[in-house]
Amino acid sequence: MSKSLDEIADLQALARGCYEDRFCIPLDSDASDVVSTAPDVLSRDAHVDYLLKGLRALPQGFTSLDASRTWVVYWCTHGLALLGYDLHVEDEALARDVVEFLKSCRPSAGLGVGGFGGGPGQIPHLATTYAATCALVTIGTDYAREALDVDAIRAFLCAMKDQDGGFRVHEGGEIDVRGCYAALATAHLCDILDDDLARGVSAFVARCQSYEGGIGGEPFGEAHGGYTFCGLAACWLARDPNRLDLPSLERWLANRQGEVEGGFNGRTNKLVDGCYSFWQGGCFPVLERCTNMLLIRCIEQSRFTRYSTSRVHIDTSLIESEPRPIGVCAATVFPPKPAVGSASFAANALQGWILDCCQSDHGGGGLRDKPGVGRDHYHTCYCLSGLSVAQHYGRCDTIDVVGPETNVVAKIDPVLNVVEHKYKAWMALIEAKGDAVER
Ligand SMILES: [Zn+2]
Repeated sequence: MSKSLDEIADLQALARGCYEDRFCIPLDSDASDVVSTAPDVLSRDAHVDYLLKGLRALPQGFTSLDASRTWVVYWCTHGLALLGYDLHVEDEALARDVVEFLKSCRPSAGLGVGGFGGGPGQIPHLATTYAATCALVTIGTDYAREALDVDAIRAFLCAMKDQDGGFRVHEGGEIDVRGCYAALATAHLCDILDDDLARGVSAFVARCQSYEGGIGGEPFGEAHGGYTFCGLAACWLARDPNRLDLPSLERWLANRQGEVEGGFNGRTNKLVDGCYSFWQGGCFPVLERCTNMLLIRCIEQSRFTRYSTSRVHIDTSLIESEPRPIGVCAATVFPPKPAVGSASFAANALQGWILDCCQSDHGGGGLRDKPGVGRDHYHTCYCLSGLSVAQHYGRCDTIDVVGPETNVVAKIDPVLNVVEHKYKAWMALIEAKGDAVER
């Protein structure tokens, strides 16, 4: 349901309050007077403690997440990796327990034997298969790799493939953009992504792009941040992003960033929410990869033909380089550094939102949707993922950090949302194992 202007104004007032608390500035202060008196600090150790507890045991209130236990494992392992905590180095026994738990989420027989369910005894699902795979990539050991039966996973993905190009999320389940992304990302991480799996995916996603520019879950659905990320990343993985209207997509994305709050909302007329720091913010580096892919193709093809570049032109005039005069807001408290490239979103303002509004008020661990609500592992994972995007991809791939240098989190691969150095090490590992098998 859309939010009223009053509800949006209430959240903006809450965000202003957070910025004033940290920066000791009056509400009506002119932007030029803003002086930081307290650098924003990422409560790294507290977040590590919170995520480690999430891996070991969850309180009774989490029973509603029983079908998402593989997701909880991903949120915690990925969050820890973003914070620089190498699970298999720091706590080998816990890393092995996590892998054993994930293995128990695979069915022992029947369709989808290679996939992972949300918990032991549950049917395999593409989304939880993606989550389990990313958690194993993040642990990154030989025993983690051996938990993946690549041939069986391929059989599961092929069984979920629909003739229209999309993927069914589980046997008898719905066909949506989430399924397309989960299938192709899993296939990529298993090094089994081929033309058969990619066929028709981008055409299906293009049918889900709405008149607003964002992407819905299914054809004629409302544009939504999570589906937009999944759809865009799926088209990149399928090596066919040109079917999307990319300028329209970028315009929609840029307008999702709250001008006061600095974070993103998930849909038009909705409240800013910490998890969209990744779902929307993460789209910008993926969009850049898509346009680079198309530009390279244009250059290659222009050697032989006259090729129109109109579909890949990004109109940067649509993105305001300076914040509008709206008083104290994230973009005035955390202004972009001048003359350092041209980002499509206010990366420093996004960092300010995550650090000041999404961390708990008292330095405790875990991050949250917005001020006034509780922390959880999902928002901790995606706030930290968004922080990584804002730090590493906000300004032409140079690291730009709000607060002390100790705030830097690990760089992610934005398409897969796993830590980049872990992704590279994993791909080298499976390529080496593949070579060994071929020999
Ligand atoms: Zn959220």
